Amino acid sequence: MTQALVDLIPALPKVLLHDHLDGGLRPQTVLELAAEVGHELPASDAESLGTWFVESADSGSLVRYLETFDHTIAVMQTADALARVAREAVLDLAADGVVYAEQRWAPEQHLARGLTLPETVEAVQAGIDEGIREAASRGQIIRVGQLVTAMRHTDRWQEIAELAVAHRDRGVVGFDIAGPEDGFPPSRHVEIWRYLAEQDFPTTIHAGEAAGPASIAEAVHLGQADRIGHGVRIVEDITFHEGFDDDGERRAELGRLAHWVRDHQIALEVAPVSNLQTGATSATSVGDHPITRLKELDFAVTLNTDNRLMSRTSMTNEMTLLVTEAGWTIDDLADVTLTAAWSAFMHHDERRALVDDVILPGYQQVEGAQR
Ligand SMILES: [Zn+2]
Repeated sequence: MTQALVDLIPALPKVLLHDHLDGGLRPQTVLELAAEVGHELPASDAESLGTWFVESADSGSLVRYLETFDHTIAVMQTADALARVAREAVLDLAADGVVYAEQRWAPEQHLARGLTLPETVEAVQAGIDEGIREAASRGQIIRVGQLVTAMRHTDRWQEIAELAVAHRDRGVVGFDIAGPEDGFPPSRHVEIWRYLAEQDFPTTIHAGEAAGPASIAEAVHLGQADRIGHGVRIVEDITFHEGFDDDGERRAELGRLAHWVRDHQIALEVAPVSNLQTGATSATSVGDHPITRLKELDFAVTLNTDNRLMSRTSMTNEMTLLVTEAGWTIDDLADVTLTAAWSAFMHHDERRALVDDVILPGYQQVEGAQR
């Protein structure tokens, strides 16, 4: 039974809201781009380099996890390199069954060889466009938007927010802040959230990954975040009891913030494998990762990869682990996919088209083929 479902997963239409461009490179591409610019790497073949990324990211510390990005970012400093990485990301996601994705990355980290901020965004967009065309020629239809990220500790938030808004009709669909969460809260630059709101510009904020509920509170109240990157530490505002009540609902008591997040159905961009690596959760396996409990409590849970290279993961892998370790059914997979589609940074009519024309027929086709 479980195996039958696992076999269906690759063909299911998937929606991915939280995937870092600089965390999803192919190891072989890192090698080739590093050779072009003379960047020294900790390994010299794709297999051992891929393993190095996973093992370094697996240390349980968010700080060490973030260090692995020094290498990927170092090889993404030219327009050609940015376009190549973006193109390959689109192709790899399309091959994974992803039909809608948002790719996030921080333009300010790609200026070391003379590119301007707008040039970096345009280079990534060129790669995305090329990847979409190439995927379509293979019969894989995918839509991809850019999320422009500001690094929390470098204080260029306003400039980056304006960069994102300036490219809103040329591929950029939203704004994000990333990097060290603890100590660099949204209140550090309170004015940008007002600016983004006045621009009617969608925002997601990494929160509840390396810091607790207070960080989530700032993200949703001060940052007016439409979605939360990870958000798994919202469980610290929930008291879980054993078992389920008479209606089959999991027994738990929510604090005020947890209620707020659930009442407003603010999407949580959860990435189980990544969360286990960075210690965002005390869980030791996908089986006891809080994503399942949060979903049972009707939070707006979405499933994500975060960093495919560092976590050696894919949407198919994340779904497979949830099925085999946490008992998820095909309805659970459809559920997080639909939640992600309805939380995507595009207009409501476009979300509806994605749901009605792509995801639901895709599920029907896959389930029909099984019978
Ligand atoms: Zn992230």
